[in-house]
Amino acid sequence: MALKLRIGSASCVAVREPAAGDGRGGGARGEGGRVRGDRRRLRHAAGGARRRHQRPALERRMPHARPHLVKEVHMQYLEAGADVIISSSYQATIPGFLAKGMSLDEAEDLLRTSVKLALEARDEFWKSTLRKSKPIYNRALVVASIGSYGAYLADGSEYSGSYGADITIEKLKDFLRRRLQVLAGAGPDLIAFEAIPNKMEAQALVDLLDEENIQVPSWICFSSVDGKHLCSGESFADCLQILNASEKVAVVGVNCTPPQFIEGIIGEFRKQTKKAIAVYPNSGEVWDGRAKRWLPAECLGHKSFDALAKRWQEAGASLIGGCCRTTPSTIRAVSKILKGRTGH
Ligand SMILES: [Zn+2]
Repeated sequence: MALKLRIGSASCVAVREPAAGDGRGGGARGEGGRVRGDRRRLRHAAGGARRRHQRPALERRMPHARPHLVKEVHMQYLEAGADVIISSSYQATIPGFLAKGMSLDEAEDLLRTSVKLALEARDEFWKSTLRKSKPIYNRALVVASIGSYGAYLADGSEYSGSYGADITIEKLKDFLRRRLQVLAGAGPDLIAFEAIPNKMEAQALVDLLDEENIQVPSWICFSSVDGKHLCSGESFADCLQILNASEKVAVVGVNCTPPQFIEGIIGEFRKQTKKAIAVYPNSGEVWDGRAKRWLPAECLGHKSFDALAKRWQEAGASLIGGCCRTTPSTIRAVSKILKGRTGH
């Protein structure tokens, strides 16, 4: 019950942390150049501009050899006021690790490590804030991240939802089964299925949570490039119907979606579901592939990300945060405005 109250509170801030990496990259961000993005791209719906999904430099190294960097980024987000931190396992998959020459045991250990590092950061940070005379933080929840099958393929299908004719619900479940078992067993407060681009994968996740009788509550977030549909073009309503039928799904939402679409999406979700809603869009910046640089987030108009976050809260979102190209500074501003704080 306590957990439900936390999820339902309107001041939670969700962030994504650097991926442990399986050689294919991971949803991540960092500040101060510690964790840099790579060059995996995705098509932006408007005008065919390219958007870059940020990836950590850690991916090219053995991630478990530098756990302090992962932990340090978690700490930066906690210090910024995040109430929820997400493990660095977005694209960490067992087949990906095996392809890198690791054993099954090593692969499973790395998955566990991604959750362990977030738990350690949370616990250490919480202990240190308790020692302060005026604690302004909540004890953060640790969420184990699981990216979509398309994120593993790293062929753009993460943003098109097109997994090809050979992919079935059974194949998706088999791909995910062990990874889910290992991450759920690592002791997170929640499991997050992120940037899910199509209905078939939503069904596979719900089926698998049941089949494996996963006791850790989950959230499932879709991604969208037009604000009206999943990346596949399928409707939010159809997919939410699938999630509504599962008691194991505690939260539904969208991530890695341009911020200007979020308010409309929350309105649509509120018509379709009674579950808590999470939104953590990207920064709205657009990657200019020709000039090889980021273009400013013109979609925000004169509004700042944190001002929009306040509107998302008023529109009914319970968990609000940032995905690609957002940083601890973003979360600091969002946390401040949602919690009505001055200073800090
Ligand atoms: Zn993202």
